[in-house]
Amino acid sequence: MTANPTATATPTTGAAAPAAPGVSLSGFKPTGHLHLGNLLGAIAPMVRAHRRTDSVVFLADLHAMTVRHDPGALRAFTMEQATTMLAAGLDPDRATFYVQSQVPAHTELHYLLECATGYGEAHRMIQFREKSATQRHVRLSLLTYPVLMAADILLHDARDVPVGEDQRQHLELTREIATRFNGSYGETFVVPRAVHPEVAARVMDLADPTAKMGKTTSGASGTIFLLDPPDLVRRKVARAVTDSEPTVAYDPDLRPGVANLLEILAACVGGSPAALAADHPSYGRLKAAVTEAVVGVLHPLQSRYAELSRDPGYVRRVLADGAQRAREAVEGTVFRARQAIGLLT
Ligand code: AMP
Repeated sequence: MTANPTATATPTTGAAAPAAPGVSLSGFKPTGHLHLGNLLGAIAPMVRAHRRTDSVVFLADLHAMTVRHDPGALRAFTMEQATTMLAAGLDPDRATFYVQSQVPAHTELHYLLECATGYGEAHRMIQFREKSATQRHVRLSLLTYPVLMAADILLHDARDVPVGEDQRQHLELTREIATRFNGSYGETFVVPRAVHPEVAARVMDLADPTAKMGKTTSGASGTIFLLDPPDLVRRKVARAVTDSEPTVAYDPDLRPGVANLLEILAACVGGSPAALAADHPSYGRLKAAVTEAVVGVLHPLQSRYAELSRDPGYVRRVLADGAQRAREAVEGTVFRARQAIGLLT
């Protein structure tokens, strides 16, 4: 799950002021190794944005438990993703960077919001229907995680939430829950609204360029992971699907494989995919340029990752500090919700 809401509201009651105006919020689910799509489509734009605005970035480990999971792998991926994001330039002095489960306000607000959500509303979610159809043992958390997502957003008083198509229904649910809660118990939450996300790179699978590059799309061969060594990157790019046309040209509809390579190159070195096509007239030259560009982007990240991994205590301290800041930032929202719904405060 990732959303980049912009918080613009100030609370009227409660302890601490929550997110300052213009704060953007992003969540990453630690279910696998981060890949080039995550870097170019989400992490790099986020790092650029947090030079301009305050950001809240969290690792959504609670969302990683809605389907069968391995506890050791979850812990390892959480640390790996935290380390990778710091290595990619996330600045913990500018962004409040934390692990969701270390800020109990997420789960506390989740429960309070469940008390304002109908079973039928949750059951209607398309993602629940699709994902539950593939599970033998369907966890209750698969049904309720959109309510946790509502808590993630409402905690930070986020107003403008850039969401892709796949998350639109969940944001609508968040709006319904917030509106109902406010109507029943008094003004408590900022009701967020969906806005179009900024156009970011969309990296496709190298082996199947009609599918988004992902942790589990075509297996490992079509996905460049951020910690892949240069030789492996070279082999994956060399095997990338192109087509049988004799020359390189940028045509995303008819030639998705070649277009994907050109877009990756453009995202790494700048310039437009169409102009880069003219500069790299053969597949050999294009693939060599893509390899060099990707390895060039990954090299500093991997060096920094190696340094940070030698000091896991530092990464844990960054996360603990971020969790402390997040707890202070959101306590006002939880206070308002507890008070409104009738709990002793
Ligand atoms: P996920 O790992 O799918 O939860 O995604 C984390 C973030 O990375 C989200 O903002 C996604 O939109 C982004 N992302 C994931 N895969 C890609 C991709 N292939 N191309 C661009 N952005 C992606």
